Amino acid sequence: MESLRYLEDVSTLILNEDFCIGCGLCTQVCPHSVFELRNTKAKLVDIDACIECGACVNNCPTNAIEVNPGVG
Ligand code: SF4
Ligand code: SF4
Repeated sequence: MESLRYLEDVSTLILNEDFCIGCGLCTQVCPHSVFELRNTKAKLVDIDACIECGACVNNCPTNAIEVNPGVG
């Protein structure tokens, strides 16, 4: 999402792919298309678009995502 960039290299978003079960919820709830599902795993495809809203963290059933809102 090139039109709504936040700051470069400051997002605290972390994805632990080992915990990901590929449910796809993070791809559905993220307002900035930070995630894509590839080969049954979520991938961070645009971390600099993350606004640290926490929606992905709140919806991930396996706690595979971490973010520290307000830091970035
Ligand atoms: S914190 Fe919000 S903007 Fe960042 S990846 Fe998660 S849902 Fe998307
Ligand atoms: S919500 Fe969690 S388990 Fe589901 S695809 Fe995203 S990271 Fe993986």
